[in-house]
Amino acid sequence: MTLLDGKKTAADIKSEIALEVIELKNKGKKTPHLAAVIVGNDGASLTYVNAKVKACDRVGFESTLIRLPETVTEEDLLNEINILNIDTDIDGFIVQLPLPKHIDEQKILMAVHPDKDVDGFHPTNVGKLTLNLPTFISATPFGILELLERYNVETVGKHVVVIGRSNIVGRPMSILLSQKRTKGNATVTLAHSRTQNLKELTLQADIIVAAIGIPEFLKADMVKDGVTIVDVGITRIADSRKKNGYRLAGDVHFESVAKKAAFITPVPGGVGPMTIAMLLKNTLLSVKRKNS
Ligand code: NAD
Repeated sequence: MTLLDGKKTAADIKSEIALEVIELKNKGKKTPHLAAVIVGNDGASLTYVNAKVKACDRVGFESTLIRLPETVTEEDLLNEINILNIDTDIDGFIVQLPLPKHIDEQKILMAVHPDKDVDGFHPTNVGKLTLNLPTFISATPFGILELLERYNVETVGKHVVVIGRSNIVGRPMSILLSQKRTKGNATVTLAHSRTQNLKELTLQADIIVAAIGIPEFLKADMVKDGVTIVDVGITRIADSRKKNGYRLAGDVHFESVAKKAAFITPVPGGVGPMTIAMLLKNTLLSVKRKNS
């Protein structure tokens, strides 16, 4: 079994990005600048957004964190987005999800200028992704492709079962892996909460991407020997033995499934760090587009 080490791979990618930033600066170009907007005080969202800002520091990017109260109106949030859209110093920005219930998430994502949409959530970028045109590929699927590439996991002609049909992970992942691309050309089944006989499907899978949000959902009796497992799930589970009071659990029962797997991502240290690295990569891409 080979561990698909997202922590190490993400560190490698960040080193590569840091070198490119130095090169840009040496050429007198501006420093890449990523902004993040967060609404409210959700613990998990704050952890993710802080990790993104910290990652910017590590690669030499500038970063701006805009914190808005839980009670912010949709109109005020749209105003903040418009300010970021026209600020020429900002190369890309993200709006950390989820947003409070009184705000229309889709309306907010539509307001982000596609050229600064480094999360790749705007319909223009989703459309380009679907047509296999150059775009910002949303960071989690992009990170999974990169991990498969760097560990030489074969996808051509393989049967991939993606579990979960979210717009940010499962669906784009299923599209990307089915496309004619380096890590693609797979036969993809997209499973979800209404799928019947899931186990029959997963037992046929050469590669399984689990993006469900149910801790340890995928058990050893649901996979075949030699399978590749990508575990996207991150759920906080109360754990009094931990200093922060919780532990992170993936969607895969790692201990038992790892015994049958050829490749497997751990949680934490798998897909999570890759997501952050690819967000930085998209920001750098935005800068390169402007420079070219
Ligand atoms: P989501 O929470 O929007 O939806 C869950 C999906 O799981 C749905 O499409 C649903 O149909 C499917 N599902 C639910 N129960 C099922 C069942 N019994 N059988 C089959 N499918 C079922 O999805 P999401 O936003 O992609 O998040 C999924 C998980 O991935 C969460 O734990 C989330 O925290 C995590 N996540 C991690 C990263 C990362 O960077 N590692 C990024 C995004 C999301």
